Amino acid sequence: MTAMMKAAIFVEPGRIELADKPIPDVGPNDALVRITTTTICGTDVHILKGEYPVAKGLTVGHEPVGVIEKLGSAVQGYTEGQRVIAGAICPNFNSYAAQDGYPSQDGSYLIPQGLCGCHGYKATAGWRFGNLIDGTQAEYVLVPDAQANLAPIPDGLTDEQVLMCPDIMSTGFKGAENANIRIGDTVVVFAQGPIGLCATAGARLLGATTIIAVDGNDHRLGISKKMGADVTLNFMNCNVVDEIMKLTGGKGVDSSIEALGTQATFESALRVLKPGGTLSSLGVYSSDLKIPLTAFAAGLGDHKINTALCPGGKERMRRLMNVVESGRIDLGVMVTHQYKLDNIVEAYDLFANQRDGVLKVAIKPR
Ligand SMILES: [Zn+2]
Repeated sequence: MTAMMKAAIFVEPGRIELADKPIPDVGPNDALVRITTTTICGTDVHILKGEYPVAKGLTVGHEPVGVIEKLGSAVQGYTEGQRVIAGAICPNFNSYAAQDGYPSQDGSYLIPQGLCGCHGYKATAGWRFGNLIDGTQAEYVLVPDAQANLAPIPDGLTDEQVLMCPDIMSTGFKGAENANIRIGDTVVVFAQGPIGLCATAGARLLGATTIIAVDGNDHRLGISKKMGADVTLNFMNCNVVDEIMKLTGGKGVDSSIEALGTQATFESALRVLKPGGTLSSLGVYSSDLKIPLTAFAAGLGDHKINTALCPGGKERMRRLMNVVESGRIDLGVMVTHQYKLDNIVEAYDLFANQRDGVLKVAIKPR
């Protein structure tokens, strides 16, 4: 008889529900991880609402913290029973895209299915959990290319302390890294959801000395200050672009980080950028963007616009957990709620409707 597990699956738009599924078989390069803690991402809410399509019956979720239950025969250097995380993005690091420096854009495993060219480059295809393969909101998850993607959790760190590493912290920090921040820079971060908060913390770690955080929620702006913001602006109470130009003496910021994915935030991020500055975009956009001509200096402003998908892989995860272990930032404050996997539908309802000051929800199968 096949052993079964509980998993949160996408049923149809508006419905993610708990179902019984077989515990997956382990191939030579895989690892089966027993989930001890996972969480819900804003992207999962897009999936729930049907705004981002995934296959019916797919297990959702892409943020795994757990224990190795079973290792594939080719995976070396790990032991069963070891506590691990894996990145939300878990590419095949042998691919051309990975060796070119863009593992998150690796679709090499799709070649046999004819879903990308023989080169294996496919935008966003490094994101497999809860997108193209079964995800982490379950009792077990199969981690592909485990040798490159499993990262041991340092002794002494709790599940909650490393829960942001697979996605939120990796993405938020990438936003700061992509912003070309230098010591002494002025940086603005548009939107202070979990990822924007991590971008704020990342800007601080990289040496920005004036960090402006923008959001419409005063509670979140309060947390921004704890994460490293020097100035907070609530767009409900002021004209953000005017305020930032005033704060910078009319020069504009060295870097602006967009962490929402709307025309308004993208446009403001460009309008406040100094000539020669860098706009680092993290948002997931759901319609065409317009670039305003004046803010873009008609294309002559030496502006840089960078985009990114969350970096994954064991070395990235090791670095992020090192940041946590060193005490440089405390992400524990972002885990505001806890739910059993059995009650995940309730957790989605709270998170999707942003009730009760929720930032991140810890989901525990047991
Ligand atoms: Zn995510």
